[in-house]
Amino acid sequence: MNIDYTELINILKNTYPDATCSLDFNTPFELVVAVMLSAQCTDERVNKTTPALFKEYKTPEDFANIDLAVLENFIHPCGFYNNKAKNIKACAKKIVSDFNGNVPKTMEELLCLPGVGRKSANVILLEVFGIANGVAVDTHCKRISNRIGLSSQSDPLKIEQDLIKIFPKEYLKDVNHLFVWHGRKTCTARNPKCSECKINKFCNTWNNIQKN
Ligand code: SF4
Repeated sequence: MNIDYTELINILKNTYPDATCSLDFNTPFELVVAVMLSAQCTDERVNKTTPALFKEYKTPEDFANIDLAVLENFIHPCGFYNNKAKNIKACAKKIVSDFNGNVPKTMEELLCLPGVGRKSANVILLEVFGIANGVAVDTHCKRISNRIGLSSQSDPLKIEQDLIKIFPKEYLKDVNHLFVWHGRKTCTARNPKCSECKINKFCNTWNNIQKN
């Protein structure tokens, strides 16, 4: 089936006009911390956790000097708090020592930061600097890409490469937000609402169900 990918994105834009990043942050470094905390955790939980933390600790310098036990205590509700605390502190130190206290703005530099992988780097580039050269392939993006048939890969890096080939560059920033919202509201992991899905005509999974 030939898919009009721009139509697919435009339908999703009309369906979710408010689709934006759902992590709360006031500075680039706060987003770095929030993204790290969001691994294996809901954005809602992260947003409930960060206000108390950011009230007392604001800058990369603050986090570079934070006592690990104190940080663990703040971020405990987000899970995996030992590793997350270590990474946040190490990341803050690196930003202070190598980037003069500023969150770097290239993929290559972001990937040097402890705890920052390609998905997180894509989120930071988009939300802080408005740069969308790639797609943050999270669990929603992976599931939707596989179900629709945009990618048959399971590795997020390969899925991202497939999506970059499919969508015009100016649409990549929308893919990031829209797939997350579609995954939360319609194409849920369990019991997706296929019959009311606005993009079901593009979807391999739905079309196969209809055939059988
Ligand atoms: S038709 Fe179903 S599986 Fe396909 S994108 Fe829509 S909700 Fe997801």
